[in-house]
Amino acid sequence: MSERIEDWGLAPDIGQCRLCGATEAQRHFWPEVYAGSGQQLRRCGYCAAVYLAPGFTEAGLARFYAGPYRRLFPAEVPWNSISRFFAWRGDVEVARQRLSLIAPRLPRNGHLFEMGSGFGAFLGQAAALREDLQLSASEPDLSHRGTLLDQAKVDFVDALANLPDNSLDGIVAFHVLEHLIDPRGFLEQAASALRTGGQLWIEVPDLMADWRTRLFVHPAHLSYFSADNLRRLAEAAGLEVLYCGPHTLPSLDGTLWLEARRPERLAGSPMAPADAMSVNTIDRWIERVGWGWKDRIKVQAKRVALALLGPGLVGELQRWRQHRGSREKSPR
Ligand SMILES: [Zn+2]
Repeated sequence: MSERIEDWGLAPDIGQCRLCGATEAQRHFWPEVYAGSGQQLRRCGYCAAVYLAPGFTEAGLARFYAGPYRRLFPAEVPWNSISRFFAWRGDVEVARQRLSLIAPRLPRNGHLFEMGSGFGAFLGQAAALREDLQLSASEPDLSHRGTLLDQAKVDFVDALANLPDNSLDGIVAFHVLEHLIDPRGFLEQAASALRTGGQLWIEVPDLMADWRTRLFVHPAHLSYFSADNLRRLAEAAGLEVLYCGPHTLPSLDGTLWLEARRPERLAGSPMAPADAMSVNTIDRWIERVGWGWKDRIKVQAKRVALALLGPGLVGELQRWRQHRGSREKSPR
């Protein structure tokens, strides 16, 4: 067991909540079965955070993304045609939709930063729609981050902390917070980097969305947010929450959308406790997710498919299904 944990680059298990740091009332549910990393799904009885423990070390997490990540998630691996890869993923279309919510709130010549810009679709569209904006971003995947930037001029920095305080008008982070070892630390940095009145937009998967298999939980997602605990986390980081709830775009059903603003006086505080009813609701939500023979067969079938077809083709099939599903959802 200890050998396996070392392979995954996991930190020692200190029994502490990822969001609030509490060590009491941490409930274990079940082991992570997507990849068998040796992590467990836990819930904090104080702040109602749901997270995987033990967490990764910084070096372990970097190794994970450089190595097993793409093998575990074949939908991230292109096959034959790069243009079809992006068309079926829908990166550009989703970027346009997100921008329709964000761009009207950004001042003329404003400075917008994206944490974890991925293939660059959002920045590419932002530059096309709003030539006046100054764009910067942080994205560790150096070889792919320029793919969808198009003509956008983006200043890449190693970390948000490298930018001066009070310098940004907007920060976006789509599907990033759940990957971070220290989500609260990131929100605090974001709050400091924003100017008074500057805004932050966060998108994460919704723990309370309708997931029915333990495969929803996997080692790349270290935290599982509900609207309630995401709101309290942002408030603890000193932000004023303008909206936190189910995404307002139908195509992003199943995700949460947080819109927050930096107030004039920035004061962080300990995370407010969750009420007993919320903790209970979360417990029941997770308890209802079983692990039957169908799930086990699915895992085996995926392993066989990966061995026979390779991650490229398996990913292509997954993307095709996603593409077909999103076409059915979108009005035309
Ligand atoms: Zn907690």
